[in-house]
Amino acid sequence: MLDPHRIRTDFPILSREVNGKPLVYLDSTATTQKPTAVLEAMRKYYERSNANVHRGAYTLAQEATEAYEETRSKVARFIHAPSDSGVIFTRNTTEAINLVAQAWGRANLHAGDEIILTEMEHHSNLIPWQMVARERGAVLKFLHVMDDGTLDVGEVDTLLSDRTKLVGLVHVSNVLGTINPVKEIAKRAHAAGARILVDGAQSVPHMPVDVKDIDCDFFAFSGHKMLGPTGIGVLYGKPKILDAMPPFLGGGEMIREVQLDWSTYNDIPWKFEAGTPNIGGAIGLGAAIDYLDAVGMGEVRAHEERITAKALAALRDIEGLEVFGPEVRGGVVSFAMRGAHPHDIATILDQDGVEIRAGHHCAQPLMRRLNVVATARASFYIYNTESEIEVLVESLKKVKEVFARVS
Ligand code: PLP
Repeated sequence: MLDPHRIRTDFPILSREVNGKPLVYLDSTATTQKPTAVLEAMRKYYERSNANVHRGAYTLAQEATEAYEETRSKVARFIHAPSDSGVIFTRNTTEAINLVAQAWGRANLHAGDEIILTEMEHHSNLIPWQMVARERGAVLKFLHVMDDGTLDVGEVDTLLSDRTKLVGLVHVSNVLGTINPVKEIAKRAHAAGARILVDGAQSVPHMPVDVKDIDCDFFAFSGHKMLGPTGIGVLYGKPKILDAMPPFLGGGEMIREVQLDWSTYNDIPWKFEAGTPNIGGAIGLGAAIDYLDAVGMGEVRAHEERITAKALAALRDIEGLEVFGPEVRGGVVSFAMRGAHPHDIATILDQDGVEIRAGHHCAQPLMRRLNVVATARASFYIYNTESEIEVLVESLKKVKEVFARVS
């Protein structure tokens, strides 16, 4: 069984205090903390092997290229991609989805074509599709979120038509924690001749993911949400589809031959990696994957299930506190407290060193669906302990007292 107390010793930041109290970091959905192994891998690269990748005939360039490409293989293994060529490095999930919307979308969407999304999407899987749909005259349709925070899979069949070109949905909701049945939805999308894109920003860091088993066409996630640094993310795509797509950005690295008035392009994945990539970031991501592999993704998920069950039970015990989302979920708990604005909750908790997020969580349509302007959100990872849940609960009880006094 995963021991969060042992794991915590690998994370230097977790020994600091905030406002004179031990840090209780409960915002891993926004970004995760980094273990020493990740910081060291990046430091080692910059101290010993820093050089630009590819093309270089000298030792440092070869070392940098090897380390960069080795991470690609690690990512492929981690998500069970059939080959390295389907793994493209991007800045983050957002850029990965924009790549698909701009490169695949502009080439494949025509007036009247349909894209199916859900009401629970993060803005990063909504705005890129609004942009390309407006340009191409395509139509957006939405799967509803039911009252229990899940999707109705059967509704997919009612929305799919012979005009549907793509179904795009989040694997695990960053607000509700809902784990969507992406494999089942992929099957239905494919049966209707549509492509499927999965936003895996909150699944890859927290549970075993197998893109081959899901049979998705595109899958996007961010390094910084899985112990890696910011500025590095991944788009996985089925190689045949990526091969047929035009490039997203133009410049160095992505070309084969360049004339003044025309060019030919590199093979995938490099066709989609224009310019100098985030080499140090990729190496950090490689170290993060090694770390998660050593812990075991099944263990990661089991630990989060334990912590989340404890948090759900304790929060539901606080009178006047409403928890959103289903019973079976990722390590995310969004809630509202009667009479207290989520921002005030987060500010008061911060006085106790408890760092939670408050706001719309980049999911304004979902907030509207929940009939709130914002929620407070606590989220958990491998380094969170049961005693931290107790600190959260005690601190929330203080919030309740404060608002009982002022009301
Ligand atoms: N999708 C989901 C479900 C997320 O939770 C997030 C970030 O919180 C994103 C996409 C966007 O990730 P990034 O900002 O790293 O691009």
